[in-house]
Amino acid sequence: MQLNSLQVEVILGDITTLEVDVIVNAANTSLLGGGGVDGAIHRAAGSDLLQECRTLGGARTGQAKITGGYNLPAKHVIHTPGPIWRGGRSGENALLAASWRNSLHLAAENNCHSIAFPSISTGVFRFPIAEAAQIALGEIKEFAASPSALKSVIICCFSSKDQQVYQHALKAIAN
Ligand code: ADP
Repeated sequence: MQLNSLQVEVILGDITTLEVDVIVNAANTSLLGGGGVDGAIHRAAGSDLLQECRTLGGARTGQAKITGGYNLPAKHVIHTPGPIWRGGRSGENALLAASWRNSLHLAAENNCHSIAFPSISTGVFRFPIAEAAQIALGEIKEFAASPSALKSVIICCFSSKDQQVYQHALKAIAN
């Protein structure tokens, strides 16, 4: 689907295989690797990624930091710790929005034309996926309102159920 100058797609797949300028890592605040998509990205990128991450000094929740992609087909990785779901009254929505927004802006600042995101915070961090998808698409729409280097956004889901949720949220904002 086209949102101004941005092509937005929701796909099912393994984000570590995507040939895009940058993939986003749903990291934790240490930026030193973990389980889920974080572990998969570090395994596929190789130990040089961890070495670069050690120089970053971690990141606050909602912040985004960029590294090389090493053995990944993607040129770069943007690492953003999404919020841990604590029931919804701990600023989770604003923090998740910040993760998406800061990642989009950082990609554009680094002249990336294409970016792929996983479903940030909805795995081990337990953010409810319907709300997460709505927040994600809201930030993409807002970002698409101003021109930038970024032309393509892929949301890479890891189950068809998740894919349906993001597809629904995409349709909802396009209207
Ligand atoms: P968080 O701690 O932010 O919740 P997780 O890695 O636990 O991060 O989960 C985020 C999402 O990433 C989940 O939907 C999970 O199924 C998905 N995921 C796990 N591995 C991959 C992968 N290789 N590619 C894309 N998505 C993945």
